[in-house]
Amino acid sequence: MSGAALAALLGVSLCDAAECPRKDALGTSRVLSVDAKTFPRVGLKSFPQTLPLADREVVLTFDDGPHPPTTSKVLAALAQECVRATFFLIGQHASQYPDMVKRIAREGHTVGHHSFTHPFMGHIPFEKAIADIDRGIAADEMALHGASTTTPSTPFFRFPYFESTQALLDLLQSRGIAVFGADLWASDWEEMTPEQQLKLVTERLAASGRGIILFHDNKAQTAAMMPAFLRYLRENGYRVVHIVPAGKSQRSADTR
Ligand SMILES: [Zn+2]
Repeated sequence: MSGAALAALLGVSLCDAAECPRKDALGTSRVLSVDAKTFPRVGLKSFPQTLPLADREVVLTFDDGPHPPTTSKVLAALAQECVRATFFLIGQHASQYPDMVKRIAREGHTVGHHSFTHPFMGHIPFEKAIADIDRGIAADEMALHGASTTTPSTPFFRFPYFESTQALLDLLQSRGIAVFGADLWASDWEEMTPEQQLKLVTERLAASGRGIILFHDNKAQTAAMMPAFLRYLRENGYRVVHIVPAGKSQRSADTR
């Protein structure tokens, strides 16, 4: 069976290998459309369900950016290996650095949302939490497209600190916004050297074998180890899956 036929059978689109200038790069192995109706909440650290990933398939996600000094290093590492990831932006940072938001999208990555001020949403009133979520979406959309809207062009959201409430989860589900947890994380909020960071996350990945991985692109230790981490994936037979919202092809999900 040809790759294209297999892709059609699986309902996925394969990335065009010709797009990647380096023949031995890790690359993005497939694009997975995520529909909030089918997958309202994913990530085994918080929820019973996760994305349908095969053994050795990973989804790379980065929270809390954009933070130009480190985000630009992460983007360079991803570009070097022709890998596409998802960035859950803090709206406040997106407002400060709209060019970096546009660059993330232009380089083919998915832009998800991560609130405006990054509060503990279980500790503030419901209305305040919703207002912060919407302000974050509006700031990200303004940076991306120059339009202030609380209808996200990519309906992917991750709660700060993974702290949600049932009422907030229900509301996002009713609005068709998929909530992302993670299957494993780098614990890069803890200070460590890039070497320690690499060891920790690769050991966790070896144990889980697959999954949605959470990093923070505003952390210098993460940016520093990203080239080595991607090399590790390549040398150990892992494949990177790029998530996009349902109903959008990879290209239309991009902002060009
Ligand atoms: Zn965060």
